[in-house]
Amino acid sequence: MISIAEPLIDENEKKEVLKVLDSGMLAHGKYVNQFEEEFASFIGCKYGVATASGTAALHVALLAAGISEGDKVLTTSFSFIASSNAILYCEARPVFADIDENTFNISAADIEKKLKNNPDIKALLIVHLYGLTCEMDKIMELVEKYDLTLIEDCAQAHGARYKGKNAGTFGDVSVFSFYPSKNITTGEGGILLTEKENIKDRAANLIDHGATNKYNHEVLGYNYRMTNIAAAIGVQQLKKLNQFNRKRRENAYFLTEELSSLAGIITPDYPEKYYHIFHLYTIKVLNRGQLAEHLKENEIGFGIHYPVPLYRQPLYKKLNYDQLRLSAVENVCRKVISLPVHPGLSDQDLKKIVNVIKEYYD
Ligand SMILES: *Cc1c(COP(=O)(O)O)cnc(C)c1O
Repeated sequence: MISIAEPLIDENEKKEVLKVLDSGMLAHGKYVNQFEEEFASFIGCKYGVATASGTAALHVALLAAGISEGDKVLTTSFSFIASSNAILYCEARPVFADIDENTFNISAADIEKKLKNNPDIKALLIVHLYGLTCEMDKIMELVEKYDLTLIEDCAQAHGARYKGKNAGTFGDVSVFSFYPSKNITTGEGGILLTEKENIKDRAANLIDHGATNKYNHEVLGYNYRMTNIAAAIGVQQLKKLNQFNRKRRENAYFLTEELSSLAGIITPDYPEKYYHIFHLYTIKVLNRGQLAEHLKENEIGFGIHYPVPLYRQPLYKKLNYDQLRLSAVENVCRKVISLPVHPGLSDQDLKKIVNVIKEYYD
């Protein structure tokens, strides 16, 4: 079986985790600070606050950026549910924008349309989907013009770049996930990055039960801390991130070379100025169900990221989004299927994936 994703762990992670276990410092500890500093510096941000998950980081990022009850936050309709759920956690209201069918990311044109119709939108939460950054020139122009708070969900974009600038350095605050399927992992884990000391301080406080001193709590906080065990894994994983991303790009290049000429498949397309780090390699096909069946029979893992627009999730239907229809996202949800692209694939695996798909289209 060729899996759709798998973490790559070697002796270095094992050694460091054993050190943490022997030290007795399982929760708090020096690796958490080290990981925060090293990850923030790798991306190019001043401050990092490590968290228990990417979702936890999103929640506190929004709170620390000042999002509260009743605020409208504009976001993409095509993502993992965590990005829009974080808005709900703050009792704020997601406003969904449509996507660009070619890049799968939020459409700058539709952002502007929604901003014109909803002058009270306070913030924009963008997701750099599959490892490809959003169209940042246009988005930054709108952020300035409409005076928005910008939050970047980089859970799929560790080291992705737009015109040489890293995802995670554009917004007021940005968020990463280290779930095992992501480009690097800490088991469960996340981090938020910011240039702003006040956002960092509020976030650090919120993830630790809002404690100002020991047993003095002024605001409602959470236990969203990253463990020292997770951080020890993260420190080692970070050293390999560039190499992992290069391998993902090579794998993607191979898949595109082999598959792009097949009638019936549209391979991922992106301009030169983007450094795509291929968290996912997602193609568009018309007969997805049958292709999926064929992949399954040949023991090739795949994923449907994502089968429905966020506003069509039962949870969101109940929240009065059931009348909403955005045409590009509706279209894309029916066609997408992700193939394995992770750095653990061998040349043989890659050839098998390609051959099995060619066989189907013959
Ligand atoms: C994985 C992911 C998250 C959530 O991260 P967790 O660490 O699983 O909580 C949020 N947004 C996107 C786009 C993701 O892919």
